[in-house]
Amino acid sequence: MKKVVKFGGSSLASAEQFKKVGDIIREDQGRRYVVPSAPGKRFSKDIKVTDMLYDCYETAVEGKEISDKLEKIQERYQEIIDGLDLKFSLKDDFELIEENFRNGAGRDYAASRGEFLNGKVMAAYLGIPFIDAAEVVRFDDDGTFNDAVTNELISERLSDLDRAVIPGFYGAKEDGTVVTFSRGGSDISGSLVALAVHADLYENWTDVSGFLIADPRIVRNSKSIEIITYKELRELSYMGASVLHEDAIFPVRKAGIPINIRNTNAPQDKGTLIVESTCRQSKYTITGIAGTDGFAAITIEKAMMNSEIGFCRKVLQVFEDNGVSIEHMPSGIDTMTIFVRKDAFEEKEQKILSDINRAVNPDHIELESDLALIAIVGRGMKSTRGTAGRIFSALAHAHINVKMIDQGSSELNIIVGVRHEDFKSAIRALYEIFVVTQL
Ligand code: ASP
Repeated sequence: MKKVVKFGGSSLASAEQFKKVGDIIREDQGRRYVVPSAPGKRFSKDIKVTDMLYDCYETAVEGKEISDKLEKIQERYQEIIDGLDLKFSLKDDFELIEENFRNGAGRDYAASRGEFLNGKVMAAYLGIPFIDAAEVVRFDDDGTFNDAVTNELISERLSDLDRAVIPGFYGAKEDGTVVTFSRGGSDISGSLVALAVHADLYENWTDVSGFLIADPRIVRNSKSIEIITYKELRELSYMGASVLHEDAIFPVRKAGIPINIRNTNAPQDKGTLIVESTCRQSKYTITGIAGTDGFAAITIEKAMMNSEIGFCRKVLQVFEDNGVSIEHMPSGIDTMTIFVRKDAFEEKEQKILSDINRAVNPDHIELESDLALIAIVGRGMKSTRGTAGRIFSALAHAHINVKMIDQGSSELNIIVGVRHEDFKSAIRALYEIFVVTQL
C-alpha cells in the first residue's frame, strides 16, 4: 500500500507535535511521501509561521528593519530542532532568506519559506530525502498552475525515491520564481503528489477526527462522518463545512484515490474517508448537515408568469449583468424567488430592482434579508422514504417556520431556508431527529 501523508500546521507546530507525526509515519511502512505545512499555532492566541513571514516581508518592503522579526521566526524552528535533538542548522537558510527579503523576492517566496524550512526539518528528522517543491510543482508565466507538467515532474523526480519529503503550499515558474497556492494550499500539494505517485490513499492529517455530521460550534459533541462521497462533500462544503481545501479534491478524485482525514492528536480514530462512490450506507439516513447564514431573497410576482416566454431568462440576465451570483431559485406558478448572498447583493440592490422592473414589469417584488440556508445531505436519502417528512416535522416541533424548500434532483440533499434567528435551533433539531433519536 502506497500512501501520501500530508500534515497540517497544527500537527507540526512544536517538537512535541513532530514526535507524534514521526510515530504515525514510522508505524506504517506505506506512509512513504510526506507533505508538511508550515508550523501552525501552538495555542489559540499563537501566530502561524506563514503569517509571521507575510508580516516580516511587508516590513522589508516598507524598507524597515526585519532582523527582530526574522529572529522570532528562526526561534520557532530552533525550538523544534532542539526539542527533536537534531544536529542540524537552518542558519545558512535564514541568511539567504534575509538577503532575498531585502532584495524584494516577493510575497509568495516569503510565505513559501514556512513550508520549505519545515520540510527540511522533517526530512532531517525522518532521515529521508528532501525535494524542493519549486523543482516539481510548476506554474506558468502568468501564474496559473500547470497540472500536466507538475504531474510529470513529480512522478519523474520520485520514481527512484522510495521515500521523500515534499513541502506543501508552493511551486515555481520555469524561471524559478516561487508561486504559492491560496491559503491552506498544502492540501492541494498533497493531492498532487498522491496523483503523481499513483498512491492508494491520500492521508490528510489535521487536528480533528474528520468531518463532523454538524458544526461543533452549534451541536456539541457532534459525531463524525465515517465515509462520505465527493459529491456529498461538495454539497456540505458549499454550505460552509471546511476541513480540506476545495481544490485538493480534483486531482485525487480524477484518479480514484480516496482521501482519509485523520487526527494527529487522536491517531486511533479512523477519521473520515472520502471516496468517489460506495455501497456502504451511512449509519444514519443523512451523512451531514451544514448551513450558512447571510442570504437575501428577492421574490418576483407577476400574474400569468408561467405563460410568459423568456421571463426567467430576462430576470437572470439582470443578475448576470450586475455581476451577482444566484445561489438558489425556487419558483411558483406566478412567482420566482432568487436567493443571493446578502453582502454581494446589498450594494447593487436598487440598481437590480430597477433593472428587473424594466426587464419584466412585475406586479410586485418582495425582499427578505437575514435568511439562512441549511443543507441536509445524504446518499441514503434516495432509498429511504419519508426523509422530507422527518425534516419538516423536526422543524415544526422546534417551532421553526420554513421559508424555502429545494430538493436537488439527485436526491442527495434537501435545502431549507429559515430565518437567521432560527438557524442554530434548526440545525440542532435536525441533528436530534436524524442522529440522536433516529426517529
Ligand atoms: N501554511 C499555509 C497557510 O497557513 C498553507 C497551509 O498550511 O496549507 O495557509
